[in-house]
Amino acid sequence: MAVSSPSPDLKSSPLKEPHISHQPVTLQNWYKKINWLNTTLVVFIPLYGLYLTRSTALIRPTLIWSILYYFMTAFGITGGYHRLWSHRCFSAHLPLRIFLAFTGAGAIQGSVRWWSANHRAHHRWTDTMKDPYSVMRGLMFSHIGWMVLNNDPKVKGRTDVSDLDSDPVVVFQHKHYGKCLLFTAWVFPMLVAGLGWGDWWGGLVYAGIIRACFVQQATFCVNSLAHWIGEQPFDDRRSPRDHVLTALVTMGEGYHNFHHEFPSDYRNAIIWYQYDPTKWLIWLFSKIPFFPQAYNLKTFRSNEIEKGRLQQQQKAIDRKRVGLDWGVPLSQLPVIDWDDFRAQANANGAALVAVAGVIHDVSAFVAEHPGGKTLIKSAIGKDATALFNGGVYEHSNAAHNLLSTMRVGILRGGQEVEVWKSDASRLGAKDSKGHMVVGAGEQITRIGAPVSAAVAA
Ligand SMILES: [Zn+2]
Ligand SMILES: [Zn+2]
Repeated sequence: MAVSSPSPDLKSSPLKEPHISHQPVTLQNWYKKINWLNTTLVVFIPLYGLYLTRSTALIRPTLIWSILYYFMTAFGITGGYHRLWSHRCFSAHLPLRIFLAFTGAGAIQGSVRWWSANHRAHHRWTDTMKDPYSVMRGLMFSHIGWMVLNNDPKVKGRTDVSDLDSDPVVVFQHKHYGKCLLFTAWVFPMLVAGLGWGDWWGGLVYAGIIRACFVQQATFCVNSLAHWIGEQPFDDRRSPRDHVLTALVTMGEGYHNFHHEFPSDYRNAIIWYQYDPTKWLIWLFSKIPFFPQAYNLKTFRSNEIEKGRLQQQQKAIDRKRVGLDWGVPLSQLPVIDWDDFRAQANANGAALVAVAGVIHDVSAFVAEHPGGKTLIKSAIGKDATALFNGGVYEHSNAAHNLLSTMRVGILRGGQEVEVWKSDASRLGAKDSKGHMVVGAGEQITRIGAPVSAAVAA
């Protein structure tokens, strides 16, 4: 905002430096561009964990525990952070909320409150600079760059997360996030393995550090890969995409095109065989006999979902239609008198045939005419409406389509134009971009009832 008359003390203060993210990298400032805390949590500790695996044996119970805890903490993010708190796709009773806040903290991705604020901004400003992990800033930025770099907090879009402040679980977890992280990410998995089967160190390395690294990389894929690879069955104006591979990696979050269209739906996959274990688990939690933990599961009506799908299909069809040759639009054709048509029918190598008030130059097609040269030549300089529409042969839809690519003019006056005018409704259909739509059997050269039938009646 421009300030016309700054106050004296403002005037004397030195100009504020731009945020580090807006400054060019130099040997003196490069380290300021890095968010060292986040980089430690998502890069250095996982790398150190990988190094430790060289000297740490992985025993079977620890492997099973690591995989189990992987799914628990991933569900803390997908079912808790994402679908419960960021989008309010369902409601959960206290025990489930505590479980989700506990396991979600073990995924080392920040507190529920911080995560949800970013995620709501991501949905509201997808693909813009206000989107904290916009894929428009590169695949690597959307995956991990946004975490490890110091970003200007003024750039990120602001969102309202005040609803989360009424959830004491969220408030407690946010307030004590550091302790929650330490305990749920590393101490708890170590305790289970240590007290359970005496593998304290293995529990820390595999079920703690390596497991958290896998959860981080998997859920980061929702922000990167799910905006990069796959189909866009509901809307292609922005980057979210549906892909089974991303779904497999992210506990079902890969049906991301659907999710961005219907974010408050507790499902990401809507077809029963699509892989969405987060949806299955939420549903199972709602079906626990006597004390269901999840309730108020929200879904969009299939009528709305199918409308969105159909509109996107229509868009794809319209785009394809524009790329095809439909002949010169009727409105751009010159109007020619009957006598001129007769006079020019054979002039300068042309071969003009009138069908339903539209003049076509069939000269390039005479030799290829499936009905033979003689028949088509006999129509040159004539009104072949009846011949073409069943008088001799009732031509196919494909023939009408082909004929339309040869049109060169419109006849003035006479009953041929009347046929066209009386059926002007055919000219009315337009696609979403205003291009004329000619449906099967609706070419202007096709008249309502076959002429042979009309003659017989
Ligand atoms: Zn997204
Ligand atoms: Zn979301």
